[in-house]
Amino acid sequence: MPQPSKTCLARPIYVVQKHSARTLHYDFRLESGGVLKSWAVPKGPSTDPRDKRLAVPTEDHPLDYAEFEGVIPRGQYGAGTVLVWDLGTYRLLGGRDAPPASLDDALDRGRAAVWIEGKKLRGGYTLLRTGGAGEPRWLLIKMNDAGADPGRDPVKNEPASVLSGLTIEDIAERR
Ligand code: MN
Repeated sequence: MPQPSKTCLARPIYVVQKHSARTLHYDFRLESGGVLKSWAVPKGPSTDPRDKRLAVPTEDHPLDYAEFEGVIPRGQYGAGTVLVWDLGTYRLLGGRDAPPASLDDALDRGRAAVWIEGKKLRGGYTLLRTGGAGEPRWLLIKMNDAGADPGRDPVKNEPASVLSGLTIEDIAERR
């Protein structure tokens, strides 16, 4: 019989990793089905409900990658520097008429609403599928709730790791 893991008992993981690779982006990840579903957000998440941040789906990552911070050597997948920009848990928000059974179910329908409890980001966020067939594109949008703050701009003003307090430059130089 499989042992229940810690992640079965707790709320699923939410993490954003700042990733300085060929281009700088923010990897937005949500635990589902034993992996981290992932999107690359070039401008990073916003706390302003008027912003629609492009989120490009990327490969699922293993759960233990959520706390990875450091330098990925040249020649390897994702080569560059990674910083844990935000970390916490999330829960799936239900629609009024037909609540999604899981995050994967919501994503299949093209709209997932989640409640995030991170150190930097809090409250509701919507992932909305857009773009044409064969080229999936999503928009990441802050809901208008107590966690919304148009003037805050955390990507610009709160750059440090929530794990180490380091900046991406600190991590790159520390190797
Ligand atoms: Mn990345």
